[in-house]
Amino acid sequence: MRLIHVAAEVAPIAKVGGLGDVVYGLSRKTLHRGHPTDVFIPKYDILEYDDIDNLTCLQKDFVSTYDNSQWTNSIWRGKVAGLDIYFLEPHHPSHFFNRGCIYGCNDDIERFLYFSAAALQFIYNRGTYDVVHIHDWQTAIMAPLAVEKRLQKNARVPPFVFTIHNMDYQGRCAPSALSKVGLNIQDYYVPAKMQDSLYPEALNLLRGGIIFSDYITTVSPTYCTEVRGTLGEGLEKLLVSNQAKFCGILNGIDYDYWNPETDKFLHSHYSVREAPKVGTNADTIDRKGSIKKSLRDRLELEQGHRPIVSTITRLVPQKGVDIIKHAIKSVVQKGGQFVLLGSSPIPELDAEFHRLKNEYRDHGHVSLNLQHQEQLAHMIFAGSDIFIVPSNFEPCGLTQMIALRYGTIPLVRATGGLKDSIYDVDNEAANDEKGIGYIFNDPTVEAFDRTLERAITCWYRQPDKWRKMIIKGMNHDFSWDKSAEKYLEVYNKL
Ligand code: ADP
Repeated sequence: MRLIHVAAEVAPIAKVGGLGDVVYGLSRKTLHRGHPTDVFIPKYDILEYDDIDNLTCLQKDFVSTYDNSQWTNSIWRGKVAGLDIYFLEPHHPSHFFNRGCIYGCNDDIERFLYFSAAALQFIYNRGTYDVVHIHDWQTAIMAPLAVEKRLQKNARVPPFVFTIHNMDYQGRCAPSALSKVGLNIQDYYVPAKMQDSLYPEALNLLRGGIIFSDYITTVSPTYCTEVRGTLGEGLEKLLVSNQAKFCGILNGIDYDYWNPETDKFLHSHYSVREAPKVGTNADTIDRKGSIKKSLRDRLELEQGHRPIVSTITRLVPQKGVDIIKHAIKSVVQKGGQFVLLGSSPIPELDAEFHRLKNEYRDHGHVSLNLQHQEQLAHMIFAGSDIFIVPSNFEPCGLTQMIALRYGTIPLVRATGGLKDSIYDVDNEAANDEKGIGYIFNDPTVEAFDRTLERAITCWYRQPDKWRKMIIKGMNHDFSWDKSAEKYLEVYNKL
């Protein structure tokens, strides 16, 4: 099978959050399973160019249609960790992808409509793909465009799989967006198709992806149930009526990229496997200690016998920002050190966290880092003891899985993929295999505090239990192996 992903992100060269990790990890896994897999993304000016090999311009006169006009584009190709990535560089006067960002422009809708229309043209011209996998609202319009294209005589367009990574972002926009990509407003801006059910004056791009794709997935089984009910954000009925072609597949993480044995961002490496030297039967987990020490030096935290409790996240309401703010004080009161790495696209939240950063500027047990920083993220995953993910809702969540891979124990709220991936070590039914973290139900600071208390007490008083949990967590398989198999089943079915 020949596959192509079309998306706004791919890690590590164009990443804002989990979408980038998923496109990267899943593509590499299907490629390694023998299915040539390409990725198509915009050629942003802020790509991590150092991570792209053999970047070459293949074509300078690739023509696409947008807003009733024809435009030329350059198509580039480069390799990232063995993957062929194709890049679209529009020659359009709006310079859609030379804005110093991936998202956050006033014309984001236009930018990604233009990209989607060109991506479909690229796929059609190549004619070699068996399945097209599109992601989130940015590329959802490709599904109705593909259906229209199929209706044209002799147009062979492969089947489409559409993955929804987060129901919070639906691509609501003016109905005139349809005519920009050549779709008839009267045909599509109707309640049964792409008219938004909560804001009827708006068009909803996600609806187009849901209705017109051949198969839809979301990123965990629990979220797949939640979005057909309380977390549907207005799309619950549509998803119920499309449930015959809808399923939840838990994301994995890329075990080559997230690997404490080889991580290029760490000065010391460790694993749960036995050290190779004959006569030693010990693992090398204790080397986490030296990374913890460097992390403290780097963040100007006091050294000493205390657990580091961390979180790495986009600072948006979904992520439980009230609990995160509360955690700063609570962790210190309970004898820990708190580390945050996060950035916020919301000006009020950004200002609030900058105020907090100022408040804790010289605190020996708190470090608030308000930027996006890949290298620091790796050091925090490896150098911490406890990793909190107190989300209000979480479609899948990758950081709890990455933390476990680095021997850092997750403390998460029971929602979406967090519920599907973490089992509480103190749950009465937990046998030796299952308990790899802490989980709380109610999205309240009280429920969070009780769970944090259990975790920090265990860290101080039961080091053996803690160590066993680290080993179980590091041995747990959150790789793409199982999940990629499920996606391949979907592709095969189509
Ligand atoms: P979401 O996709 O909702 O942002 P996920 O947990 O699925 O959340 O994925 C988040 C990804 O983004 C993880 O790989 C995490 O390490 C990374 N990340 C989030 N914030 C930052 C940051 N400030 N610096 C570096 N990496 C970050």
